[in-house]
Amino acid sequence: MTDAPEFGELVPPDRTLMGPGPSDVHPRVLRSMATPLVGYLDDYCVEVMDDIQDGLRYLFQTDNEHTLAVSGTGSAAMETAFSNLVEPGETVLVPDNGYFGARMGEIAERAGGEVVTVSAPWGEPLDPADVEDAFAEHSPTVFGFVHGETSTGVRQTGVSELTEIAHENDALVIADTVASLGGVEFRTDEWDVDVVYSGSQKCLSAPPGASPITFNDRAMEKVHAREEPVRSWYLDLEGVWEYWGDERNYHHTGPISTLYALRESLRLVSEASLEGTWERHRRVAGALKAGVEEMGVGLKAADEHWLPTLNPVRVPEGVDDGRVIDRLLDDHGIEIVGGLGALDGEIFRVGCMGHSARPANATQFIAAFGSVLADEGADVDLEAGAGATASALRTE
Ligand SMILES: *Cc1c(COP(=O)(O)O)cnc(C)c1O
Repeated sequence: MTDAPEFGELVPPDRTLMGPGPSDVHPRVLRSMATPLVGYLDDYCVEVMDDIQDGLRYLFQTDNEHTLAVSGTGSAAMETAFSNLVEPGETVLVPDNGYFGARMGEIAERAGGEVVTVSAPWGEPLDPADVEDAFAEHSPTVFGFVHGETSTGVRQTGVSELTEIAHENDALVIADTVASLGGVEFRTDEWDVDVVYSGSQKCLSAPPGASPITFNDRAMEKVHAREEPVRSWYLDLEGVWEYWGDERNYHHTGPISTLYALRESLRLVSEASLEGTWERHRRVAGALKAGVEEMGVGLKAADEHWLPTLNPVRVPEGVDDGRVIDRLLDDHGIEIVGGLGALDGEIFRVGCMGHSARPANATQFIAAFGSVLADEGADVDLEAGAGATASALRTE
């Protein structure tokens, strides 16, 4: 017999989560997960699912019927989008200016797609003119882009322009809003995006595990007309919709506690209003941005592409970014992360999403970050940084 392992009681350390996700979970959301389970087809569960779908339509700003939560994290939603929309042999256009655009390419390839890319430097959004050129050169039938690229802290602006180019070329558009939906403005219907997906653990103050996704009628027509079934059984929308659509039949067991959590987080968004939620992110992240700028460090992102939910803070000359990250965690309980790929060693990535986007976090972060940087030999003005954050947080 294999011996029983011994492990202690679960006591997670107290953390302030200011990395690229997960973010702090709202106490009401935490409490919702400690409530009793019901069956996955219990009338109560069906009501919870109805509420989630209504809440998601508000969050996405869409009337799309096919709006649901994928059982899995943001990557499962990404895989649901691409594997349902891409048939083997189709050309799929994705960006190469960040880590998650690259993941789109990997997933599209596994779905049998021929992947082509449109380029922009890491740290800059796609230029519509380059997207137009890529359409002329490759004639893709599916185009994916990342609204908030977490690896670089860049917001893709001009979304309507991108969708217009794609639709003129009879292609469908998939948007990744995992690190932006609920944090910054996104309008699915007005901007005419065919498929949009997100995650729960970034801007929604919830734990990972139930990921919002929405398909418009144009996208659903293509899904219904597929010649080959989706290669993933679990993520095949025709099957998943048996559970989330009117039939409410068994497809797989819904992650009940995680659905409770998502429902509570959507209730929070409704109570504060979507505009109010965007404004909270902008205000708190704005205070954080003012703090690092006045401290003398600054962001590596142009103001017009600033993504309040993920701030790429420059690593000051001569400072070891890894030591700063470790000390913030060990001495202050604050989690941030470093740069990826081309930005490794150049930026810290400081998230300001969901329940982490609140004034106390900005104040705490600026004080802790400034003191660690000063200890590590950076030339920073602690008082100017703290003062700028405090001023930016004033409401009058
Ligand atoms: C986090 C993230 C993902 C992946 O989501 P997981 O929940 O980690 O699977 C995809 N895209 C973006 C932009 C992200 O920030």
